[in-house]
Amino acid sequence: MVIPNDLKCVIFDMDGVLYDSMKNHEITWKQAFEAEGIEFPGYEAYMHEGRPGHETIAYVFKNYINKEASQQDMDRVYAEKVRLMAKAPLAEKMPMIDELIEMLRKNGIAVWVVTGSGQPTLLSRLSRDFGIEDEHIISAKDVSKGKPHPEPYLKAVEGSGFSAAQCMVVENAPLGVCSAKAAGIITIAVNTGVLEDEVLSREGADIVLCDTTSLYSYVLAYFEAG
Ligand code: CA
Repeated sequence: MVIPNDLKCVIFDMDGVLYDSMKNHEITWKQAFEAEGIEFPGYEAYMHEGRPGHETIAYVFKNYINKEASQQDMDRVYAEKVRLMAKAPLAEKMPMIDELIEMLRKNGIAVWVVTGSGQPTLLSRLSRDFGIEDEHIISAKDVSKGKPHPEPYLKAVEGSGFSAAQCMVVENAPLGVCSAKAAGIITIAVNTGVLEDEVLSREGADIVLCDTTSLYSYVLAYFEAG
C-alpha cells in the first residue's frame, strides 16, 4: 500500500484520469499531422501528453520528417489541432471516479486538480461534474513551467495547505508522473492509455494500476484498513 498514512489531499490529473479524453487528443493529433503529410503513430500522443502543443509539433517535424518546424508550421498545425478538438465528441467521465471522489470527501480528504490543459470545454465541467471549484484547480494559466517541471504540483500542495507527504497524485502520463515525483509526492499511475506499464514506473510512479476501477478498489482498501 503506497497511500500515505496521514493522507489529507488527493491531486488528480484531468485528461486520461478524470475524463476519457485522450482518444480525442490521439485522433486529432493524427489528423492534424496527416494534413501535413506526416504519419503520426498514436502512442506518441500518450508519450508527449501534457507537453505544450508547439513543442510536440517541433518534436514530430524533427523526428518524422527531419525538418526544423518554423513558427508558421507550429501555428498552422496547432490551429488545426484546436479546430478538430472543438468538433471532437464529448469526453466521458472515467469509470468509478464519481464514487472515488465521493469516498474521499466522506473521509475528509481534499480534492485538487492539476492539468496542463487550457481547454475551457473540460475545465468548465470540473465544477459541474465533480464539484471541484476553481480555487482547487491548477491549470496552464497558473504556472510558468508546465509538466514535467514540478511547479504545477508544487503549487497545488502549497495551495492545499498540507505537506507533500500528506498528498497523493493520480496521473496517467509519463511527463505528469515525472512532474509529481519531482515535487516529492507519492504518485499512483493509472495506465488508461496505450503505453507499457514500465514507461510509467520508469518515471518514478510508486504503483501502476490498470484503470480507474482498480484505483477505486485500491483506495477503498486503504480506508477499510483504517
Ligand atoms: Ca493526463
